[in-house]
Amino acid sequence: MTNDSKYPHDFVAPHLHNIPRSGIRDFFEIVSTRKDVISLGIGEPDFITPWHIRESSIYALNRGATSYTANLGLLELRKAISDYVQRRFDVNYDPASEIMITVGVSEALDLAIRALISPGDEVLYHEPCYVSYAPVIAFAHGKPVAVETKAEDDFRLSIDALEAKVTPRTRVLMLNFPTNPTGAVLTQQDVEDIAAFAVRHNLVVITDEIYSELTYEAKRVSIAAVPGMRERTIFLNGFSKAWAMTGFRIGFSCAPPALTEAMMKLHQYTMLCAPILAQKAALEALVNGDDAVTHMRNTYRQRRNLMVKGLQMAGLQCHLPQGAFYAFPYVGHLGLSSHDFAMRFLEEQNVACVPGSAFGACGEGFIRCAYATSTEHIEIAMARLQTFTTSL
Ligand code: PLP
Repeated sequence: MTNDSKYPHDFVAPHLHNIPRSGIRDFFEIVSTRKDVISLGIGEPDFITPWHIRESSIYALNRGATSYTANLGLLELRKAISDYVQRRFDVNYDPASEIMITVGVSEALDLAIRALISPGDEVLYHEPCYVSYAPVIAFAHGKPVAVETKAEDDFRLSIDALEAKVTPRTRVLMLNFPTNPTGAVLTQQDVEDIAAFAVRHNLVVITDEIYSELTYEAKRVSIAAVPGMRERTIFLNGFSKAWAMTGFRIGFSCAPPALTEAMMKLHQYTMLCAPILAQKAALEALVNGDDAVTHMRNTYRQRRNLMVKGLQMAGLQCHLPQGAFYAFPYVGHLGLSSHDFAMRFLEEQNVACVPGSAFGACGEGFIRCAYATSTEHIEIAMARLQTFTTSL
């Protein structure tokens, strides 16, 4: 019996009982008990934040930047974000009333959902997906409704699948392209079709584009840029992935004034503002960080090619991920569940990957292998994978 017995289960709000702990966390608690593991598990860049970005935070700290900022964030940063989103995504947002700096995309997702839904409202999101979507909806007393995406469609989202799940209670559609964990991207035609679906059913779209800078061959498209969508879209982005700034905890949302104001209310009474030093670093990232992002993107692309080749040599089918830094190969034909495959691969070869089932029921049969790790590690991991699959 642990000390938990002092805190009866009944003290916890009932709706939290049904929300499972993240499958990634459970798995990595096991990984942490082992030595010299080669990890393809963590969804985090192996790069350290570029020096000029770190230095801008140090410089600001030396000059005494230790205060709160405006709730929406530093105006200078919001202006830089407005320029960036216009330049990269072709959508114009007013820095004064339509942009808010948040504590990562994580906070922005929570604010967006809480700003939009009432208890019992349904939220559509595509699976396999980032582990926090369904819990964040459930925290707000909404009903998460998963829409399956399939390997044979390169994990793009089909309108038929969406139409099958939409009801009169559906209020929101959540998108994440490029997708964690599949690396899927959408075409221009896809976003136009999804936009028409959202208009047809009067939905608000939350689009989490945290991996958009890490798009490889494909053209980068955002649903926010489709005519008529800006007014019903909350566009989210952040610095964790492409600028390798996970520890700074900094992201942002762009949305029409009424939506930004609603999110800002939640933010000002809960978070107040994002940390000033992280905001200073984000400003430097946007103003002078393009070369570093290009370098990291090119490196990830080379690693992706290496990994996909290695997966194929180990006899696994894997669509070519077009964005983010994850490959999502199929292992279902080998007679093990995703979880058992990942456990045995870890136990027998000391390589960690994440069972696809951690990303929703339709991730069963797959594993997620992150290529945000060195070429050398990818080469060793793929050689061990070949040994492992041959032994099954
Ligand atoms: N959205 C997706 C799709 C992610 O994969 C992650 C992190 O893995 C996040 C949001 C969280 O990002 P942040 O570090 O900005 O909170």
